[in-house]
Amino acid sequence: MRVVDGRTGACDQFPEAVFRGRRARLEARMEALRLRFVLVTKPVDVFYLTGFRGSAGALVISPGRIRLWVDPRYTLQAREQSRGAEVIETRKSLLRAIGGWARRARPSVVGCQDAHLTGAELAELRRESQGSRGARWRGVGAVLDELRIVKDRWEIERMRQAGGLTARVFGEVLPLVKPGVCECDLAAELEFRMKRGGGEGPAFETIVASGPRGAWPHARASARPLRSGELVIFDLGAILAGYASDMTRTLYLGVPRRRARLLYESVAEAQRETVLSLRAGLRGGDADAVARHALARRNLERYFTHSTGHGVGLEVHERPRLARGEHTALQAGAVVTVEPGVYVEGYGGVRIEDTVLISESGPEILTPAAKEPWYTG
Ligand code: ZN
Ligand code: ZN
Repeated sequence: MRVVDGRTGACDQFPEAVFRGRRARLEARMEALRLRFVLVTKPVDVFYLTGFRGSAGALVISPGRIRLWVDPRYTLQAREQSRGAEVIETRKSLLRAIGGWARRARPSVVGCQDAHLTGAELAELRRESQGSRGARWRGVGAVLDELRIVKDRWEIERMRQAGGLTARVFGEVLPLVKPGVCECDLAAELEFRMKRGGGEGPAFETIVASGPRGAWPHARASARPLRSGELVIFDLGAILAGYASDMTRTLYLGVPRRRARLLYESVAEAQRETVLSLRAGLRGGDADAVARHALARRNLERYFTHSTGHGVGLEVHERPRLARGEHTALQAGAVVTVEPGVYVEGYGGVRIEDTVLISESGPEILTPAAKEPWYTG
């Protein structure tokens, strides 16, 4: 078996100081919120703070102490992967175990990820912690999501690798894109190559949408064969060492006529202008407006039916958003997609998307697949 760096590596190669730094930033936020304890249950956040990659774990962070409850499926893995956490095995449900901790430790207030927990889970936490003189569970809102916006250099390196792999597999599959080949065969080919190339697999279900199906922004790959004289949208992204990438390219099979050219060139221009506009301090809503104005110049704005972009990292959709009404300023170190598109019912669509790092020295495209030539004729 080949061992490819990063395949199972997760954050194994991240120095422990990285996790300590992340926890210190969380503790500073906790202090501002007057919280001595925070319960973290969303797996990507547990991973972010400890390096543990299991699908279930409950982390209690308090100043200078970090405890991770896992069930027996994950004990060995948690001991191996987690950095600086006390691993506690429980045979009860994780929330019951946390309730037991609350009864013993008697914290007055504990922050929890209320947006991630279901109503039933919150009720279980309250029920199980009864007798702790009523520990109150207070939602911490988007604190963890906000911590993850600015990527450190180790994360950026993983995201470059994930984006590089995505661009590479797309380049490898391009020669197979021909009339008669079905969408799902191309999607399978892309996903297979992501795994063989050292990724963990696709970060989301690969979209291959040809002809009129391209007018559905989130069409799944179907058994439809590609036909000449049609546009085809490919939306794909590998996940590597826990980090996602997200990229879209559109191709035309044959020699494009006027309508296809207008749509493609307009979207390409909107995408290019938006990428170039990205800098720290720009508001998410302003970046969205760059794309929208570019399409409005060609009278295509009404065919652009979604927002311009989203953050990418441990999740394929995270903060910040490039969308109407987003007033938050973008920060250096954030990674976002830029993905304007136009969708014409009964005809097809064009979308072009890159994952882009916002840095002090300007935007850096992390998914460097060629955008030209975009037609095969
Ligand atoms: Zn995408
Ligand atoms: Zn996207």
